[in-house]
Amino acid sequence: MIEYRNVHKSYGAVHVLNGINLTINRQEVVCIIGPSGSGKSTLLRCINGLENYQSGEIIFDGVRVDGSERALSQVRGEVAMVFQRFNLFPHRTVLENVTEGPIYVKGERPGPAREYGMELLKQVGMDHKAHSYPQDLSGGQQQRVAIARALAMRPRAILFDEPTSALDPELVGDVLKVMRELANQGMTMVVVTHEIAFAREVADRVVFIDGGVVTEEGPARQVLTNPSHPRTREFLQRVL
Ligand code: ADP
Ligand code: MG
Repeated sequence: MIEYRNVHKSYGAVHVLNGINLTINRQEVVCIIGPSGSGKSTLLRCINGLENYQSGEIIFDGVRVDGSERALSQVRGEVAMVFQRFNLFPHRTVLENVTEGPIYVKGERPGPAREYGMELLKQVGMDHKAHSYPQDLSGGQQQRVAIARALAMRPRAILFDEPTSALDPELVGDVLKVMRELANQGMTMVVVTHEIAFAREVADRVVFIDGGVVTEEGPARQVLTNPSHPRTREFLQRVL
C-alpha cells in the first residue's frame, strides 16, 4: 500500500533521510523504532506531503506522491495522521472535533456524520464526553478523541507519530488498547513508538531506523528479541 524507494530528504545541509526503502502492505501493522533525530517523524510526514523530499519515490496505493495537488489530495483523503500532541480544536466539542472533517472537508451531511461520530466515540470509549471540550479531558482522553477524529475520515491507513509519548504513564494503556483494537480490525497502521511491549505484541513487522536509513527490519519478535544488527541491540538495551 505504501512504498518508499530510495527516498532522500534534507533540511538544508542536514541529510535526514538517506535512502529509505520500505514497503507497508495492506492491513499490516508496522512499528518504527529508532533513536531521537533518526528521521522517524520526517519519514511519516513525507507520505502525506507534510514534508517534501528531494529524490527517490513514495508510492501510495499506486499513486506517486510527488508534491502535485492531485497526489496530495488523494493521499490526504485516504491517510490519516495521529500526532504526539493531539491538536484538537479547543473551541469545539469532542463530537464537533470528530465531525468537522467529514462535514466540511468531505461534504458529508451533518446528521449521518454525527451518528457515525458517536459510533466512533463509543469505539474509543469517549461517547460519554461527546459534548465536553478538549480542555476538560485528560491527555489520554484527548488522544482517543484524536483517533476517533482520524477514523471519521474513513482512512485506509493511519500513521501514528509517538501517540503516547506526551501522556502520563497511567494514561498510556487506554490509548494502546484502542490502537490494538484497530489493528485487530485490520487497519493498516504505521506506528512510530517507544512502546516496545506494544510493538512486540501488535506489530507484524518492526523497522529500526538509524541515521535516516532502515538499519534492520523483520517480524516483531525477531527484531525485538533477537536483533541481528549491533545498533538495534544497543538501542533496545537502552530503551528496555
Ligand atoms: P525523529 O522523529 O526520529 O526524532 P525527525 O524526523 O523529527 O526525527 O528529525 C530528524 C532530523 O531532522 C533531526 O536532526 C531534526 O533536528 C531535523 N529536523 C526535523 N525537522 C526539521 C525542520 N523542519 N527543519 C530543520 N531540521 C529539521
Ligand atoms: Mg519524531
